[in-house]
Amino acid sequence: MPSVPPGDGQAPVPASQPPKRRAASRAKIFSQAPSPESRKLSPRAAQQLGSEPPDRHERIAYFTMEAGISHQIPTYAGGLGILAGDTLKSYADLHVPAVGVTLLNKNGYFYQVLDPQDRQLEEPVHWSPEDFMKLMEPRVSVQVEGRAVLLQAWQLLVHGADGYDLPVYFLDSDLEGNAPNDRHLTSMLYGGDRAYRLGQEIVLGVGGVRMLDALGYANLSKYHMNEGHAALLIAELLRKQAQNPASVSENDLEAVRRKCVFTTHTPVAAGHDVFDSALFSRMTGDFVPPLLLQKATMQGKVNMTLMGLNGSQYVNGVAKRHGETTREMFPEYRINSITNGIHPPSWASPAFSALFDAHIPGWRLDPFGLRYALSIPNDKIWGAHAESKHRLVDYINEHANVGFHPERFTIGFARRFTAYKRPDLVLYDVERLTQMAERVGDIQIVFAGKAHPQDEAGKSLIQRVLKISREASAREGRLKIAFLRNYDMQLSKLMVAGCDVWLNTPQAPREASGTSGMKAALNAVPHFSTLDGWWVEGHIEDVTGWSIGGKPVDADPDSPINFEADALDLYDKLEQNIVPTFYGKREKWIDIMRHCIAINASFFNTYRMAHQYIVNAYME
Ligand SMILES: *Cc1c(COP(=O)(O)O)cnc(C)c1O
Repeated sequence: MPSVPPGDGQAPVPASQPPKRRAASRAKIFSQAPSPESRKLSPRAAQQLGSEPPDRHERIAYFTMEAGISHQIPTYAGGLGILAGDTLKSYADLHVPAVGVTLLNKNGYFYQVLDPQDRQLEEPVHWSPEDFMKLMEPRVSVQVEGRAVLLQAWQLLVHGADGYDLPVYFLDSDLEGNAPNDRHLTSMLYGGDRAYRLGQEIVLGVGGVRMLDALGYANLSKYHMNEGHAALLIAELLRKQAQNPASVSENDLEAVRRKCVFTTHTPVAAGHDVFDSALFSRMTGDFVPPLLLQKATMQGKVNMTLMGLNGSQYVNGVAKRHGETTREMFPEYRINSITNGIHPPSWASPAFSALFDAHIPGWRLDPFGLRYALSIPNDKIWGAHAESKHRLVDYINEHANVGFHPERFTIGFARRFTAYKRPDLVLYDVERLTQMAERVGDIQIVFAGKAHPQDEAGKSLIQRVLKISREASAREGRLKIAFLRNYDMQLSKLMVAGCDVWLNTPQAPREASGTSGMKAALNAVPHFSTLDGWWVEGHIEDVTGWSIGGKPVDADPDSPINFEADALDLYDKLEQNIVPTFYGKREKWIDIMRHCIAINASFFNTYRMAHQYIVNAYME
């Protein structure tokens, strides 16, 4: 039976939940579906009986290059994919009639290995789609560089908390008959060159629409693109709309626009997905109607963000600050913002899940209730944290052998290793950190994260952290530093709950949103971060955490002067406020922990986010 494995938040729902009412209210929002008849037989039940419902009731198609649904299904690289996974899980919880489309990414992102010089090596991840997914019958084909590429799809059912199954299709080009290179098109997430990437985007956008048609999704009214990678779906919808693709009109584009929703995640111009026009036309031929192509072309390059902007009625950034940055980049477009969230049942540690079950019954299906954490007694919060921290410290000592202790102040930093996230900011002056630990109390810092295979600067940062970690071990002082290999969803879940403070040091405004700090907040772990992404909205000094740095000292964001100013501010706050409060004012500390849950976890979740997408984007 294909299914999401247990242990990823798909927990059984308490018997007190009334599923019938929820389904009815959802049906009202999407008035044509699901009809009472189609609900009699859930897709899962229909499958078990060996039949598929012919006209599926799903109304919304959610397209994403990567999907982080479970750590056992390694088809994600980081934040973008985890957001997609958490979104789909909340849609399943809420009975949103949606269907997901992504690529199989058969080799995963990669399995992180470090060589004796601490250089990151990338190995393919070994896993079997058939352990979790069901191979579907239909096959469709797309044209890549003039070749026909045949595609099949694997269906994964994301189980909602009260039994609603949301299908996600993983497109797979590894079929006999395809050219050898094309068989690998759906193997490597973000691997290969620009031509490979564009081939993947053809598979996702064009192949995805065709596959949904072939699978019988006849009622789709919205196509939601999670980032520009899927924007070629607009071209496919246009060709369907216009009948004669050579004469696509503004009216056709307007009709397609009404069906499309586009979420951009890229805060800096350099990060946008662009292709040289020559490469683009070699790969896609005359597939993209000239009307759309011309609107998406800028300075001789085809820009997938522009394609998304021009082909969508609703466009949004992923935090308020990111919405502003995006409006500055694209002033001619109407750009909204819907701040990202996390799926709480997937990210609460076992100890906090149990605590919430006891004090806030119903939190899994209604995380707004987490505001009620204000009433949970101190010893209970501290107890759940201590349990989560023990699990992490055990893991660290087993894997990194640095002698962490569960009662010592512990900072966590885990995310993609790349220059703008500045994993080395906290290590700017190790001498000062060492002295601080002697003066105000022991400090432990745990790092984890992968660098993109082509990001040399990111790989050097990993080497640097490991070097400093060894030096700290050799000193045997009160500062300890660990690096954990192969950061993934499972390790993330352990880390966000097991540290005392969650550190984030991006260079503003380069972090579109960030979500790991939201996972930490759910587990009562305060956030210590530069004011960027979601933290602009979640930060209340000394109440939900602390900010790092103020206005940049130097206008050049890459200036070492800014780096130093941020590092010094970080140290001052640690030394004068954060570490002394942790060791000396436990009641106040726990009060901050409680506010992380009540103020931030109750809001920064995909349940709230789903409501905003439904009302603002899908019902438009
Ligand atoms: C949550 C998560 C991320 C995203 O974290 P950011 O704070 O956005 O950097 C990346 N990778 C994994 C494995 C995660 O669980």
